[in-house]
Amino acid sequence: VGIWDARSAGPKENAVTIKAYLNDTSLQTTALVTSVALDAASGRAIVRLDRTLFHPQGGGQKSDRGTLGGVAVTHVTHAVEGQVDHFLATSEHVLRVGTEVSLEVDAAWRAVNASSHTAGHLLAALVERRYPGVRAEAGHHWPGEARVEFVGPVDKLLEDLRQHLEHDAHDAIANDLVVTVEGDPFHSRTVRIGTFPAVPCGGTHVTSTAALATLVMTGVRVKSGRLRVSYRT
Ligand SMILES: [Zn+2]
Repeated sequence: VGIWDARSAGPKENAVTIKAYLNDTSLQTTALVTSVALDAASGRAIVRLDRTLFHPQGGGQKSDRGTLGGVAVTHVTHAVEGQVDHFLATSEHVLRVGTEVSLEVDAAWRAVNASSHTAGHLLAALVERRYPGVRAEAGHHWPGEARVEFVGPVDKLLEDLRQHLEHDAHDAIANDLVVTVEGDPFHSRTVRIGTFPAVPCGGTHVTSTAALATLVMTGVRVKSGRLRVSYRT
């Protein structure tokens, strides 16, 4: 669920942004400004750094928000050649190349997205465990429209799913399963909930399933051979 290619994230060349959020869950640091440009489409300043704690949008997960040098960062994306673009809420060139700036990730927004994303992992793991041959194929974890999609023999599952999935999820939450990030953070990063199988992931996560106590399933349906489980956290 929510997989993007973490292999391209390593600090192999000077040009890349070190994606420090992959192995560092802290939300404040300083970083060096390596480029500032103006986005032609939005007129906003785009800043690149030598390293970042901001999770860029991708893998079905919204980007982090926060501040750079006290200026609001409203959007963050993966850019070419391993770079990360930080979109500022201003068209001014307020940050200068070669200067050290403070970086602060919005903790509340990080928690919202980490919860929604981790819940997607949990639902994928629970469905795959209960129904052999069914496989999570896509995840979209944006708050308000979160869902996981499954392929495989899903056609006759609906009644059974509706009976069991919410209960399975609340069992997992009550047992407060630990969420662990394993592997080389830049090349083979995986995430594991409890003793469920580890899955490749470059996203942000809560540290245990107790943080998902507000999880509610909002819809379960099958369309064109795909099972979609919608939820909110
Ligand atoms: Zn993940």
